[in-house]
Amino acid sequence: MGATTRLRFREYTVPVPGAQTLTQGEELSATISSAECVTGAEADCGAASGDVLSTDELVRWIATHQARTGHEIFEQITRRVIRSEAGMWL
Ligand SMILES: [Zn+2]
Repeated sequence: MGATTRLRFREYTVPVPGAQTLTQGEELSATISSAECVTGAEADCGAASGDVLSTDELVRWIATHQARTGHEIFEQITRRVIRSEAGMWL
């Protein structure tokens, strides 16, 4: 006879790098930034940094891309990750 396969479900907590648990009245949390090169006469270059957690890392990517390509117009996108605790907002 074949072996019996058991499947179990577990709850996982996935930590978000840099995220902080909000306490009431506090808005601080992890800030994630990315940049995309929009240099181009007919079409944007489109090179993207991917998500980074620090301004230094973003600036380094932009400087490296500019040094390599001469491109100088970038779109920066910043978003924030927060953790909410049950009952916190109501
Ligand atoms: Zn570019």
